Amino acid sequence: MSLYIWRRKRKYRLLSKCILLLLIVIILIPIALYIFTEETHEMLIEGDTIRVQLLLHESGKVIELGLEEYVVGVVAAEMPASFPLEALKAQAVAARTYAVKRIQIPDPRITRINNKAVLSPDSAINQAYISVEEMKSRWCKRSYLTYKNKITQAVSETKGEVLLYEGNLIDPVYHSSCGGCGTEDSENVWKYEIPYLRSVPCNNHPEGNKEAINIFKLSKLNALMGIQSRAVSHTSSNQRIIKILEKTASGRITTLLVSGQEVSGAELRSKLSLPSTILNWVIEKDEIKFISRGYGHGVGMCQYGAASLAKEGKDYGGILKHYYQGVNLALVKGRE
Ligand SMILES: [Zn+2]
Repeated sequence: MSLYIWRRKRKYRLLSKCILLLLIVIILIPIALYIFTEETHEMLIEGDTIRVQLLLHESGKVIELGLEEYVVGVVAAEMPASFPLEALKAQAVAARTYAVKRIQIPDPRITRINNKAVLSPDSAINQAYISVEEMKSRWCKRSYLTYKNKITQAVSETKGEVLLYEGNLIDPVYHSSCGGCGTEDSENVWKYEIPYLRSVPCNNHPEGNKEAINIFKLSKLNALMGIQSRAVSHTSSNQRIIKILEKTASGRITTLLVSGQEVSGAELRSKLSLPSTILNWVIEKDEIKFISRGYGHGVGMCQYGAASLAKEGKDYGGILKHYYQGVNLALVKGRE
């Protein structure tokens, strides 16, 4: 091979290596940037800082709080402060996500009452919130400082963090305990299929699975359920009184017959204030005794499960990504 040809080939080889390197840089840098921004995405909310306007139902007054201060009050109200720090951090992110979503999309149940408010401290409407004074009366004097500091740490260590699914804030629903049956697909409780609210197995948490018993007079059952039918009694056949039609794979009742009328499991739970739809019953004389496990609707994060995962060493990001499938952590910031 002549020296000239050898040099030309070497030149081409060098050139092709440079082109390959350039292509790698062109393709890989945007991918790396995309991943980075997904995890540290900033979302500006109009205004100097993010503020939460809270409606106090008793007085009808609206109070204004900083977002992080509000999240402290929600974590204190919604999760036992004795739970591990990583579980409290997961709760803080879920609570903050919910609040920011309500700021962006106001809840008409609140704005109808007072259009200056965006959230209610009532857990039946939004998520529960308690003030510092309520924390002091809820916890004994010795526990107050320990618990308040622990919750404040959980909130500050996740400051500004929210959950996104495909770039949008999620509905971070949660419940106390799945009863050890795993969580539930959203459509089995609320009819809407939400991609990140899927049924997932839950960690073992026996302390959250204690059975609860609720007893009702048979003669009151139809009235409590709002069923326009002759009251059932102990002389009626058990099947006529109440009968399961359908259960989910996780064991929650979705539909049943009460006095011959089809009702949903969620409706039965709500009207009789039962802890969950993982239930059975016994009819004895003129009473019906419901025996249930777990507490709450069963969708999204299981709080006892979160505590159990945290005890095993999972961090709050891992806990959240287990219960909300396919989500990303992102940062939300107000203008400083
Ligand atoms: Zn669970």
